[in-house]
Amino acid sequence: MSRTAKAPALIEADSRILFPHTDAPLACRTNPAWFAHEHGQNSKDDLARIERAKTACSGCPIAAGCLKWALANRELTPTGIWAATTARQRTGLRQRLQLRHGLDWVGVVAQADRERARHSEARPPAPDPVQPASPMWSSSYEPWTEPVTTGQQQRNRELLDLAQRTTRTPRPTETLAEVS
Ligand code: SF4
Repeated sequence: MSRTAKAPALIEADSRILFPHTDAPLACRTNPAWFAHEHGQNSKDDLARIERAKTACSGCPIAAGCLKWALANRELTPTGIWAATTARQRTGLRQRLQLRHGLDWVGVVAQADRERARHSEARPPAPDPVQPASPMWSSSYEPWTEPVTTGQQQRNRELLDLAQRTTRTPRPTETLAEVS
């Protein structure tokens, strides 16, 4: 976990949706001050800081999983920027997930994740990364330790923007369960 949330110590994380593992350096660990945000902090400096945090999240390899975790753990994320969302935006997203999936929307999203994992296990194995097809690779690919590409960054940004839209009803299983 990247930050210490202002929450009672005894609150446990929802075990159905795990915080994604990565060995990549995370901006919220290296620059936690960017991600600190309390309700009502709307000064020019605050907004600039929030924008910096959101931009950093858009380049994060675990942004989609981080968003899912933050939404599933309301009491552990009452403040701050998580996956480019403010607390108010997360509240809106939870309400929409509840409208679509009911009170146990976390269970529905977790189940969709399990189904997706089962399907991907059933797929033929990917080519051996030690012997990549492209001669451009000189060494084996190490997930999450490689720099995030511009394409990945753009995709993360689009996913996060989609999650935050308020003008149309998103498809939560699409935005949250299929993208981690
Ligand atoms: S998406 Fe943002 S808040 Fe979440 S782990 Fe990555 S940098 Fe931290």
